[in-house]
Amino acid sequence: MKAIQHLRTINHHKWLVMKECFQVGLYKQGLLHDLSKYSPSEFLVGCRYYQGNRSPNNAEREATGYSKAWLHHKGRNKHHYEYWIDYSANPEEGIVGQKMPVKYVVEMFMDRVAASKTYKGAAYTDRDPLVYYEQGAAKLGKMIHPDTAALLHGLLRMLAEKGEKETFRYIRQNILKKR
Ligand SMILES: [Zn+2]
Repeated sequence: MKAIQHLRTINHHKWLVMKECFQVGLYKQGLLHDLSKYSPSEFLVGCRYYQGNRSPNNAEREATGYSKAWLHHKGRNKHHYEYWIDYSANPEEGIVGQKMPVKYVVEMFMDRVAASKTYKGAAYTDRDPLVYYEQGAAKLGKMIHPDTAALLHGLLRMLAEKGEKETFRYIRQNILKKR
């Protein structure tokens, strides 16, 4: 059991996301981000499969075929596009990603920025979250709503080109303001 290391990883991630969310005025989401990681269903699995350099969910998948911790997590955290996967109102479409409320798209963006910072460490640049997204985007298919994907991708591109300060200001003033 790597309880201390796992706890430290969660706390560090939450701290980064909180700082980012506060900068754009998402105070409640900044405080509550990923809170279910402290629940036994997620925390104990995280301790058991702690890796240090990648998600314990991947190790759980390799061991048992699927990750119970992830299924618990994505069912409770609205900043994951996977939370929003549901049957389409149009029966011909089958299961699709529903359009996410903008405030959760912003939290998803912050989550990815924080994860890239942790993963890359001192080598992190503002381009890393975009590169990571584009590597996996083609596989998402209908699992993410096109409007949600376009907003996320646009913010990641802006971050890569204009940096954090300007992108966060844009989010504050243009994306979140009209709510
Ligand atoms: Zn999460």
